[in-house]
Amino acid sequence: MNIHEYQAKTLLKEFGVPVGAGQPAFTVEEAVAAARSLPGPVYVVKSQIHAGGRGKGRFKEASAGDKGGVRLARSMEEVERFAREMLGATLVTVQTGPAGKEVGRLYVEDGCAIAREFYLSMLVDRTTSRVAVVVSTEGGMDIEEVAHKTPEKIVSFSVDPATGVMPHHGRRVARALGLSADLAKHAAELIKQLYAAFTTRDMAMLEINPLVVTEQGELRCLDAKISFDSNALFRQPGVLKLRDLSEEDDKEIEASKYDLNYIALEGEIGCMVNGAGLAMATMDIIKLYGATPANFLDVGGGATKDKVAAAFKIITSDPNVKGILVNIFGGIMRCDVIAEGVVAAVREVGLSVPLVVRLEGTNVELGKKIIADAKLNVLSADDLDDAAQKIVRAVRKEAA
Ligand code: ADP
Ligand code: MG
Repeated sequence: MNIHEYQAKTLLKEFGVPVGAGQPAFTVEEAVAAARSLPGPVYVVKSQIHAGGRGKGRFKEASAGDKGGVRLARSMEEVERFAREMLGATLVTVQTGPAGKEVGRLYVEDGCAIAREFYLSMLVDRTTSRVAVVVSTEGGMDIEEVAHKTPEKIVSFSVDPATGVMPHHGRRVARALGLSADLAKHAAELIKQLYAAFTTRDMAMLEINPLVVTEQGELRCLDAKISFDSNALFRQPGVLKLRDLSEEDDKEIEASKYDLNYIALEGEIGCMVNGAGLAMATMDIIKLYGATPANFLDVGGGATKDKVAAAFKIITSDPNVKGILVNIFGGIMRCDVIAEGVVAAVREVGLSVPLVVRLEGTNVELGKKIIADAKLNVLSADDLDDAAQKIVRAVRKEAA
């Protein structure tokens, strides 16, 4: 789960992390009021969307101007104008994809005089099972590009969970960023604070880009991006409250209500499968026969009829879906439960696209009988290869 920059900064502040003063704003009036509460004379009006690259992004609407999603304002009039232009407009950045994201809220922040910009992030390193710290002198830049062109400018190390952050980690960061004296001490302190926030709040990724040294000689986090480990949200009620559903795919929200592993994709063939491995194999074989999957969906091992029906309805609600492939290998999951769920969903919402069902394993005969008795317009298939060819062919025929 991701949160907005302003929420991330509020959260980090609780751990003592230095961030500037600022206020979120949902309307133009709130943006002006937020700016009035700041010392000025420079204010930064920042679009809040769950994607980076906002500064270099562009709005789709010409009326939003051509200045990007992060703007420096030097007067209340400018704050007002920028807020008016950005709210409700669609911001396209390297991370949003061509469709962009509508800006529903802003963050109005104290303008900061920047002396130096750095990059800092923390993430879970699955190889070492530790939290890794990544720092670079190349702040404010796209870190993938830095990693590609000048990998020597990136320093990373991981922290032993048994000891936590040690003084040598702080020295390592200070050396990598060329900081000495007081700033080196502050950097060491910052790493401790960020590590505490990261582990206490079950984060999966924390990125500060840029971390800056101000002209007054202080460290400040100017941007903050946080992703949380979804599997730990049950014990983070405070974090869960920060969820912004308008940033998420409707179908994925519905799927999360039923505890389904569902990811919306851009293809035309909806897939309902049990087991992540089989789901991946199904997606691969659809591609092999020249079509593309509309989603990844693993209904899991212990799915009930209701859960299967919900999954099927999510797939049929996607207007991109031109055909559906149900591919179930019954183990713990019984084929008759799948069949009942599919039949119930079709009864409720109908079926306007071709459906291929391939069932194998526990209670397969009963499952096939339930589908046959329901007289649904289903093409049945014997194996994965047969199923993939049939659904791709059926979709082509509809399109022709
Ligand atoms: P994004 O990474 O999505 O483009 P940032 O928050 O990093 O958004 O803002 C883009 C750039 O704008 C930063 O690299 C920084 O140079 C500048 N900036 C952001 N916030 C401030 C601020 N409070 N004061 C001055 N400059 C800022
Ligand atoms: Mg940034």
